[in-house]
Amino acid sequence: MIIKNGTVYDPLNGINGEKKDLFIKDGKIVEEADGKEIDASGLIVLPGGVEIHTHIAGSKVNLGRLFRPEDHRKDPVSRTGVTRGGVGYTVPTTFVTGYRYVKLGYTTLMEAAAPPLGARHTHEELNDIPIVDKGCYTLMGNNHFILKYIKEKDLEKLKNFVAWLLKATRGCVVKIVNPGGVENWKWGRNVKSINDRVDNYEVTPREILTGLAKVNEELKLPHPIHVHCNNLGTPGNFETTAESINAVKERIHITHIQFNSYAGDSWANLASGAAELAKRINQRENVTCDMGQVIFDDATTMTADGPMQHSLYKMTGNKWYNSDVEMEEGAGVVPHVYNAKSSVNAVQWAIGLEMALLVKDPWKFFMTTDHPNGGPFYHYPEVISWLMNKQARDQMLQSVHRTASSRTGLGGIDREYSLFEIAIITRAAAAKLLGLGQKGHLGVGADADVAIYEFRDDDIKRSFSKAKYVIKDGKIVLKDGEIVESPQGRTYWVNAGGEVTDEMREAFSKYYTVALENYPVQDEYLPRGEMIPCR
Ligand SMILES: [Zn+2]
Repeated sequence: MIIKNGTVYDPLNGINGEKKDLFIKDGKIVEEADGKEIDASGLIVLPGGVEIHTHIAGSKVNLGRLFRPEDHRKDPVSRTGVTRGGVGYTVPTTFVTGYRYVKLGYTTLMEAAAPPLGARHTHEELNDIPIVDKGCYTLMGNNHFILKYIKEKDLEKLKNFVAWLLKATRGCVVKIVNPGGVENWKWGRNVKSINDRVDNYEVTPREILTGLAKVNEELKLPHPIHVHCNNLGTPGNFETTAESINAVKERIHITHIQFNSYAGDSWANLASGAAELAKRINQRENVTCDMGQVIFDDATTMTADGPMQHSLYKMTGNKWYNSDVEMEEGAGVVPHVYNAKSSVNAVQWAIGLEMALLVKDPWKFFMTTDHPNGGPFYHYPEVISWLMNKQARDQMLQSVHRTASSRTGLGGIDREYSLFEIAIITRAAAAKLLGLGQKGHLGVGADADVAIYEFRDDDIKRSFSKAKYVIKDGKIVLKDGEIVESPQGRTYWVNAGGEVTDEMREAFSKYYTVALENYPVQDEYLPRGEMIPCR
């Protein structure tokens, strides 16, 4: 295949809007090929999008589906000759999730929170998501063995367990959610700072973060520890976030940072802590973050942060689902609507954008809505329009509650993202930080995952709403905004070694309700599994 005459944006190869032909053979970008020609004159050509943080598969996602029948009625999707039908506006079915991401030009998706005990469920749903490649992050911040080995200060055992757990869950990232807080939640409590005590283990969130960060580097895992900080969604929490960043000398990724960038000491005076956090991130080489942008729309909040979801339920009175994952984690699901006329929601909306605009280096920043927590991912085109166009952003700022202007610095920021920078925060940087060397770029040898858009700078939102073509592994899967083929993608995971020890065997037989033999995800769960190499 030849993609002819497109204007190419390929940041990893330093290509910034050059007219260039691309050649594809056997699913890869090559020097030269012939065959079918796609005329991309007047179109922009980007690598396929790489989603660094979303919630699309597994037990809590499915709880969200089961628990929100009203969400099924809002936007049903009919089947076509190629695609299956489905429902779910904020928590779509697996099939609709894949189709909708592909329409936006995304070809690789990362499910950001898999509880080890539910990893099979996560992979079953990931397998069901068509077209795209995918992977999942393994929850580790409240796991019995992790807390035990951190308490015992036994880094070797911790290292072995982390590696084994990644292998057992076929996961690719060490995910930490409210470290220690979810363990305390099992007893109706939480932690309030990174120095609080996790009751049954006599460790602190600080020790969990630093221990896992150290092991993460020693195992040479491709991605840094991926951290949902303590006190998420609480006024004044930017200080906890700053302390977490300060505590870790190794690489650390702060996820959906908007939810962790709050100043003020109550909801009545909630304000932005974005400037302070962005300054810290700008000063450090080891810190990256994703956006967690809030959208004024329906959302379904779902997180392993059980106590946080209980607070949200108490505050909103909306229905609430709590789930305990024995020995490991928890989860909560609460439907939510973000309202532009709410003083709190307006500040949240502004903070996400402030972070995006204040973190100077786009390679340290990633566009997300923490789907479906801040809102559905289908709103990405609108987020891009706010980032690329100050006028569009200011228009929105004027139309929402005045607190967005008075309690954040958004109105005073002039920066506008270029297309090159958008390509970084939606694909290139994510592929790089995940260690997916064959993704996020269009150099020779890269997977032929390509997104082609008709870009108009007077209608940025529309430009990114429906790709003109999406090519996955060298096959056209979308044309003129419609799915034309629906192949099966692959699942990535990281093998860093790790073995079962007698100690683990004994604890499993004593405390888990499943046998150790039934715990790991077998290879047949990954019909197209592929490893990401350690660094
Ligand atoms: Zn998340």
